Amino acid sequence: MKRRNFIQLVATSIAMTSLTSFKKVTDGLETTGSRMPVLFVGHGNPMNAIEENEFSRAWNKIGKELPLPKAILCVSAHWQTKGTKVTAMAKPKTIHDFSGFPQELFDKQYPAPGSPEFAGETKKIIRSTTVELNDDWGLDHGCWSVLARMFPDATVPVFQLSLDYSQPPEYHYQLAKELTGLRKKGVLIVGSGNIVHNLGMLQWNDSVYDWATEFDERIKKLILSGDHQPIIHYEKFGAAAKLAVPTNEHFLPLLYALALQEKNEPVSFYAEKTMMGSISMRSVKMG
Ligand code: ZN
Repeated sequence: MKRRNFIQLVATSIAMTSLTSFKKVTDGLETTGSRMPVLFVGHGNPMNAIEENEFSRAWNKIGKELPLPKAILCVSAHWQTKGTKVTAMAKPKTIHDFSGFPQELFDKQYPAPGSPEFAGETKKIIRSTTVELNDDWGLDHGCWSVLARMFPDATVPVFQLSLDYSQPPEYHYQLAKELTGLRKKGVLIVGSGNIVHNLGMLQWNDSVYDWATEFDERIKKLILSGDHQPIIHYEKFGAAAKLAVPTNEHFLPLLYALALQEKNEPVSFYAEKTMMGSISMRSVKMG
């Protein structure tokens, strides 16, 4: 090969390598053309992170069936703040926000990277309020105990959006709609809570309260019919709602998932059982 041709070849390879590197950087936030599904997960007991049971298996299965996300945005019942925040650190810590569990669970780490890029993008696309970039939270158990089963390799970047405790359900539903653009950029949005969640009335056997079944079934039917307004205004369901949702932080993540359902988008349940009398593990997939 002549020297001039060789130099040209080298120059072309360098240019192509630079282009490839550039593409890798910009690929992260590009629109993919297809829409990532959206999940609500009934997370229940943190032990699901390390125990083999029907829920941990169902989470593992759905993780394998989903397209590989570019990032995962969790809206967890366990991060409530005044105003809305999004985690923006490169390396979120695993938060063991519970007590009275075996050491093995406290030793469990979920070392997924964060996504400062998508955190910035989330702040940008939410116009109805000013979202604060946060660098001191991490991943709480509503997020990591589930993802440890869905994506056990912990290689997909994960970031969290907080729940503004000062706002009513309708506000959360409308705010969630602003996240829709993330789906086309390959972000898996996961609301994590429980449709029925009454820790004060747990039972240590297999029986389930009638009010728990009534509320869960009612919400199930409304989800299947795509009728979200009565779900947002669940308080109108009366006594069963008061018992099923004594405080609404575990219910609100469901509204984030439902709000992102597109017209005629299929909906399915990948787990559905009420545990310990008063915890519904019903989990929903849209798309
Ligand atoms: Zn919880």
